[in-house]
Amino acid sequence: MTYRTHVALSLSLTLIPFSTTILPVEDTLQLALIIITTYIFSLSPDFDEPNSYLSKRFPWIIISSVISIFTTHRGVTHRFLAPFIVTIATLPFFVYYPEYSFLIPVIFLAYLGHLIGDGFTIGGLRRFYYPFSKSTKWFLPKILRFKTGSITENFYLFIFSILSIFQLYFVIINNSIAGITQYFS
Ligand SMILES: [Zn+2]
Repeated sequence: MTYRTHVALSLSLTLIPFSTTILPVEDTLQLALIIITTYIFSLSPDFDEPNSYLSKRFPWIIISSVISIFTTHRGVTHRFLAPFIVTIATLPFFVYYPEYSFLIPVIFLAYLGHLIGDGFTIGGLRRFYYPFSKSTKWFLPKILRFKTGSITENFYLFIFSILSIFQLYFVIINNSIAGITQYFS
């Protein structure tokens, strides 16, 4: 799955709690942080592949060089426990900066979104439930799966982009985000 589709899919997930009234968004800085965090964590599982989109870029190239020594592509960073472990690993940051704790569900959902996306591709997620099972996991029936970069993937990219735009609209109208909301109401 290409980085664009990963970001669009994850964004359509991370915006859900903010597009309803579950979690508030107070200003444009918070909204920007939600989008940036989604971007980073929706691509971070592929730090296990040195040629992936973020892995080639500074400063991520440093993290990727270390991770890719220890794992093959779609290995440990693509197991069902990974989004939990990564989210828990970020918690010390939020202990020191509790004002940013609205980003905790964003990290979890963005990372999870990446795994769901890879589960849409023909390759799927090998040993997803390892150590409980060694079978490959897909999140779509066989007929709907696609090859990375295919025309079918572009169709999914389109769908998730539209979904994200709608979510973003609802985030804006369901919150009073200083500086934006008045233009939409
Ligand atoms: Zn991946």
